[in-house]
Amino acid sequence: MSESETIAAISTPHGRGGVSVVRVSGPDAFAVAAKVTGRAVDASMAGTFFFSKFMRDDEVLDSGIVLVFAGPKSYTGEDVVELQGHGGTVVPGKILDAVIAAGARLARRGEFTQRAFLNGRLDLTEAEAVIDLIDAKTERSAKDALSRLEGAHRETFEELYEKTLALSADVEHALDFSEDELPPDFTAKIRRRAHKIAKTVSSALDTAREGKILRDGALVVLAGEPNVGKSSLMNALLKENRAIVSDVAGTTRDSIEECLDVDGWPVRLVDTAGLRSTDDAIEAEGVERSEKLIADADIVLRLVCATDAWAFMESGVELGEKEMLVLTKTDLARGGIANTLAVSAVTGKGLDELRRAIVGRLRLLSAKGDETAADINQRQREKLLVAKEAFDRADAALKSEAGDLVIAANEFRNAAEAVGAVVGKTYSEDLLDQVFSRFCVGK
Ligand code: GDP
Repeated sequence: MSESETIAAISTPHGRGGVSVVRVSGPDAFAVAAKVTGRAVDASMAGTFFFSKFMRDDEVLDSGIVLVFAGPKSYTGEDVVELQGHGGTVVPGKILDAVIAAGARLARRGEFTQRAFLNGRLDLTEAEAVIDLIDAKTERSAKDALSRLEGAHRETFEELYEKTLALSADVEHALDFSEDELPPDFTAKIRRRAHKIAKTVSSALDTAREGKILRDGALVVLAGEPNVGKSSLMNALLKENRAIVSDVAGTTRDSIEECLDVDGWPVRLVDTAGLRSTDDAIEAEGVERSEKLIADADIVLRLVCATDAWAFMESGVELGEKEMLVLTKTDLARGGIANTLAVSAVTGKGLDELRRAIVGRLRLLSAKGDETAADINQRQREKLLVAKEAFDRADAALKSEAGDLVIAANEFRNAAEAVGAVVGKTYSEDLLDQVFSRFCVGK
């Protein structure tokens, strides 16, 4: 891609607001700013700002502040100016037009961050953390993204990449020698080194679940017979928790989804349709969807009316691994069952315990002792799985009778390439598209 072009975009959200920012980056950023402000702008002004009118030809469009950054000390690593004008739906667009007329072109999605990556300001895990931070649904999600933006993954994966490369180089080098020229424990040593690296890859893979939960929300499904109190419980939880505005497809005909912040965890709470078996075609479809939701769920709250609790217990129904039994309408029943969650949507009793139990489950699911360690995303997971499989194949080759070094060298190279793609040491245009298409224009 050509980096000789100067790019520009409105970096603030569209709509009514006090201030808007038009960001310009590239070799002509200063020249563009000079044209729009009518003042000379150069690298000696880096780190400063000045007040100015914003103009297109002789027409004054707005007035505001110009911030000057000189590459490589800028977000993108290039010369950058930011024009801060008034917000709203008209003025920012006019300033952007003036900037384009002065020689910049419109930036593509994520192009500023992509340039930051190509200029070595960020690695891919940090670039992905930028968009995760912007999209963070809860404080916990934001904290996690920030730790990755500050390089929590960069170091780990760069080191893994270097070690894997060294391993493949050593094995490749060994191919130049005959077997009896190599030290007798050569293969055993290589295997030990490979095991160590593969182990780190595996523990990183273990963080994928929490990553998914923090990014997309934990899927918590309310299941139970009709009238057991699913929608009432959902409403009661919604009333007491901050709802998260979500772009996830919301209401479907037969299940209702809401996003909640439960003690910092983003939770997608879904009320399923009745789960009874039926001949009715439309309802059968609803049942099928409910079953799919339950299959995908992180947690299933199996609701049973407190008045039916004993009958349920005696029926010997076994709960699945991700199911939690919740007795509902406890205001209607006398007594309870030990060690069982019990709520009343009417009085609000038991809701705190239920929330705590949900959070407890989520912590367990995330299977991560160290709360500060960051987690991987789906793209990183795919690459690490490729690496792990390559390590497995290399190990199988090395432990075979033949102790096949050719296969091992090849597989270690595959593993290195996959680990390198996590941080962007190795990348293709497709990979960059995959990462940066998630971004908004202006970031
Ligand atoms: P769903 O079909 O599982 O979604 O059940 P609903 O939430 O629609 O509740 C069915 C009926 O039970 C409604 O008449 C609710 O008012 C009532 N109900 C739900 N939760 C409670 C509760 O905690 N206490 C009492 N007394 N009634 C409840």
